Amino acid sequence: MKQAAWLNDFIEQTQEKWTSISDFIWENPETRFEEFISSRYLSEQLRKEGFQVQTGVAGIETAFIGEYGSGNPVIGFLGEFDALSGLSQKCDVDYQEAVQQGGNGHGCGHNLLGTGSLAAAAALKKYMEEHQLKGTVRFYGCPGEEGGSGKTFMAREGVFDDVDLALSWHPKNRTGVQGCSSLANIQAYFRFKGRSAHAASTPHLGRSALDAVELMNIGANYMREHVSQEARIHYAITNSGGISPNVVQSEAEVLYLVRDKNMKATRKIYDRLCKIAKGAALMTETEVEIVFDKACSNYNPNHTLGKVLEQSIQEVGMPSYTAEEYDFAESIWNTLTDAEKQSTELCEEINLKRLPVQPEGPFLTAELIPFDGKGFLSGSTDVGDVSWITPTAQCMYTTSALGTVLHSWQMVAQGKSSIAHKGLLQVAKVLALTAIKAMENQDLIKQAKQELQEQLADHPYECPIPANIKPSKLRESLLV
Ligand SMILES: [Zn+2]
Repeated sequence: MKQAAWLNDFIEQTQEKWTSISDFIWENPETRFEEFISSRYLSEQLRKEGFQVQTGVAGIETAFIGEYGSGNPVIGFLGEFDALSGLSQKCDVDYQEAVQQGGNGHGCGHNLLGTGSLAAAAALKKYMEEHQLKGTVRFYGCPGEEGGSGKTFMAREGVFDDVDLALSWHPKNRTGVQGCSSLANIQAYFRFKGRSAHAASTPHLGRSALDAVELMNIGANYMREHVSQEARIHYAITNSGGISPNVVQSEAEVLYLVRDKNMKATRKIYDRLCKIAKGAALMTETEVEIVFDKACSNYNPNHTLGKVLEQSIQEVGMPSYTAEEYDFAESIWNTLTDAEKQSTELCEEINLKRLPVQPEGPFLTAELIPFDGKGFLSGSTDVGDVSWITPTAQCMYTTSALGTVLHSWQMVAQGKSSIAHKGLLQVAKVLALTAIKAMENQDLIKQAKQELQEQLADHPYECPIPANIKPSKLRESLLV
């Protein structure tokens, strides 16, 4: 408890610094691999805290690492800071209204995520100085989580190879350690080339790339019946070949994102999808170019570390909320449809069923959901790749009203609220406390590594992104 009390004092004394950093990132929402303002700002904060900062890590302009100390153990805190396009939203309101029409917004709460991890790294550094604790603390500034697999690109370049354990968290409407896996994924562009022609006078001379895209989608949709329950197949037509129906479309492109429970299963679906694309090209006498975009592995939660993280959540304790905060949470809850209220999203993730939502509220809780390692998350995270390289644990922490889903305007609206700030400050203590426990009891690190080694024996890790692929920024539609 001594350490928790120390952390409590440190974070409480410095709280305005952390909440203002998070608010600054919220006010400057930037999408994947273009987080120039956020990346520079967070790097500056790390320097002010006395960390040695390296920028342009792994050849990615907005990736950076802050480091303090030397030798082992090496503790890595993972921080994200990218936003989503089209989710601009005013803060602290219970209605949808953009700050800037069509602008970006922090719909996944990464302003809180990156700042919470940074505050944890700063707290650990200070604790190490005051208590003569040996080791290295690193903050990983990880860009492009949303659709970019930034950490997977960083993992490919070996930046996590010497880390003894990694810790992270994610803003949510509930609190608990993530004990379940997530889906692996692969994303690729399928570019078809045909021949343009007058669609009425010389259609026999044309070969339609758009036909190829449509036939590919039909093939992929038929494949859905013959994949595992966990598999997911999504697509977006990123180039439909133009806006003129009287011209046979000579170029068209579709972007596919496929997922399954691990990389081996995901690769099989991807290989089948490539065959479907080639079949579509054959049927239409067009050519197809397959452009691999990105991938990430499924998350492998380290249970040894997860238990310590859970214990830390309990030791730090829950934040308490004011009547105004409960009221705001209720007003957000009231913006949800009945289907959204009844949605079991996150059930599998942190076993939501154990805490059923009461129709009369309260609609805000940081009560701990027990860590049991069941189920899986039907989304993906690039923390997955880190978790196969070094023992990794992450928790969800309450920063929003119950029922708030990620990637929604409601999530953005609560991103600078006192509810979100409380979650950010509390989780910074939780992550730092977990790291201190590991540094003071290195048997724990040994056990966590042993657990990972046993899993790697059955599932050896290989970075799923080929060496020649570069991170891609969010593409605007090719149609003007
Ligand atoms: Zn996120």
